[in-house]
Amino acid sequence: MQTGNINVKTENIFPVIKKFLYSDHEIFLRELISNAVDATQKIKTLAAMGKTDSELGDLTIEVKVNKEDKTIHVIDHGIGMTAEEVDKYINQIAFSGAEDFLSKYKGNDAANIIGHFGLGFYSSFMVADRVDILTKSHLSDAKAVKWSCDGSPAFTLEDIDKADRGTEIVLHVADDTQEFLDENKLVSLLTKYCRFLPIPIRCGTKTEWRKPEPKPENDNTDKKEEPKEEAVQVPRIINDTEPIWQKAPSSLTDEDYRKFYHELYPMSMEEPLFQIHLNVDYPFNLTGVLYFPKVKNQLDLKKNRVQLYCNQVYITDELEGIIPEFMTLLHGVIDSPDIPLNVSRSYLQSDGNVKKISSYISKKVAEKLESMFKENREDFEKKWDELKVFLQFGSLTDEKFYDKIKDFYLLKNTDGKYFTLEEYRNTVSALQTNKDDIVIMLYAANTDEQHLYIQAAKEKGYDVLLLDGFLDPHAINMLEQKNEKLRFTRVDADTIDKLIEKKDDVQPSKLSEEQQKTLKEYFTKNVDEKTYTVMVESLSETDLPVMITQNEFMRRFKDMEKVSGQQSFYGDFNHYNIVVNGNHPLAGRILNESDEATRTKLVQQMIDLALLSQNILTGEKLSEFVKRSYEIL
Ligand code: ADP
Repeated sequence: MQTGNINVKTENIFPVIKKFLYSDHEIFLRELISNAVDATQKIKTLAAMGKTDSELGDLTIEVKVNKEDKTIHVIDHGIGMTAEEVDKYINQIAFSGAEDFLSKYKGNDAANIIGHFGLGFYSSFMVADRVDILTKSHLSDAKAVKWSCDGSPAFTLEDIDKADRGTEIVLHVADDTQEFLDENKLVSLLTKYCRFLPIPIRCGTKTEWRKPEPKPENDNTDKKEEPKEEAVQVPRIINDTEPIWQKAPSSLTDEDYRKFYHELYPMSMEEPLFQIHLNVDYPFNLTGVLYFPKVKNQLDLKKNRVQLYCNQVYITDELEGIIPEFMTLLHGVIDSPDIPLNVSRSYLQSDGNVKKISSYISKKVAEKLESMFKENREDFEKKWDELKVFLQFGSLTDEKFYDKIKDFYLLKNTDGKYFTLEEYRNTVSALQTNKDDIVIMLYAANTDEQHLYIQAAKEKGYDVLLLDGFLDPHAINMLEQKNEKLRFTRVDADTIDKLIEKKDDVQPSKLSEEQQKTLKEYFTKNVDEKTYTVMVESLSETDLPVMITQNEFMRRFKDMEKVSGQQSFYGDFNHYNIVVNGNHPLAGRILNESDEATRTKLVQQMIDLALLSQNILTGEKLSEFVKRSYEIL
């Protein structure tokens, strides 16, 4: 047996490693499996080049737990190591790597890089107080050796008997990390980190129900009986060695993509809308599949995060700063060895490669959407309601993205018809252009609540959009900024004629100025002036006698605050206009009513009906209204 000291300056770095990486102890498994996969890939390469005499055999990597001995075993049939190699790679190189890591990242931005930066083999000491390496090189004359170390710089190295080629790492699990001595725990870690590695990984067994072998022809037992399925134990293979993103898109069907989606997110019930297969090898390497999920509300966002892999090893699903912001809302995987993960996130954002990757993905997404729009508009429209939020978020967070998608950004009207902005502008401009040549796009945010106003607008021949998405308040602002001579106004923001403010569209008033003043006074007396402003307008006789409207900009501002979850500047403050139609027959009746009590009742009833139609009449006021209505009956 050979004993020696690992050549390090730090007396004992393992306690430091352990403490430093406290929250990420589990990555030891990812690191050991990565090494096992590398060693296996190497022997496959050598075999393919005819550079080894060794038979490949079964290359499955195995992870085992021995609860009695309190050990975890990671076994591969890869290239193996000779005694000299152990000395070189484990005693010298690997150790200095671990030391390097510590000196470089201690204290500075540590939380950001932990988990992304491989500590390699030495991460085993995060869970073990002794580690053995049993290894036999593929070289025919190599002797098998065992290296052993308890975390101090002292190690032992001795010859052993080991028949088969490859390496077995034995972790003697420390007292404070005994939770890893559980096969289920290991299976879940392997599933997290190693699910798509290219070499099969086995951990324990699983139960499979199988029909028994068919009985021979001359068997006389009752043949009519269906053979019962029986439980058999089969090796549990953790990984899909050929994940979809590594394959050629032309060899895949929509069904393959859907299946993969559910493999990736087993808890998800929803089907994705569609997917984009990414594949570049110049000027950087990147493959992946991004799915557009179905999103109905804010809660659905960020449910299944995009996962980042590096050569099929899972790295993280925290991709903020690595891919364009809105794409963190998509689902799927990205695999790239060119994303430098050993640097901090703040640095990442200014990294040239990351910028290129980000703009490549954003370009690809825009291209895909454009081709969908051009090739099958009907289908694109079907998907639009769910797609919209991504395009809005993308455009709101990245100006360049809006420029890429503006030709197929759709607007839907309350009749369910879809238009591009340009199409819609042309459709409505003849009627809905105001005296300043601005095209007014009327919209509703809720077809039920604003039903009355939508009807009123339609009766006058105007078209009304439906903008009921939760990002619409922000998107409206953005569209106004990007497009000159365009303004969005909600149907209940004012009375219809005022909304459009056409040059030649003034209704003559039936009332004198004096009468208008009196009418206004009658109404003002009956409302709380802090919340309501009364105005008398000359609308058409067929318009409603009283309408409630709300200032477009104040309401929109509040909506936007709601979306961003900000503290509202206006608080619960709501202000409404009560618009009295001076041309309606009821206005005349009020003015002609000489009995004050009857007149007050009439005014109150008209106000309450208008408030009721807007769902603003509640509580005591509502009870009063009901009582008064019965009295009148
Ligand atoms: P890295 O994998 O980043 O090089 P490690 O500390 O994980 O760093 O490993 C150091 C070296 O030890 C590897 O480069 C490899 O040469 C050798 N090694 C580690 N594990 C194995 C293994 N299972 N089979 C063969 N060689 C291995």
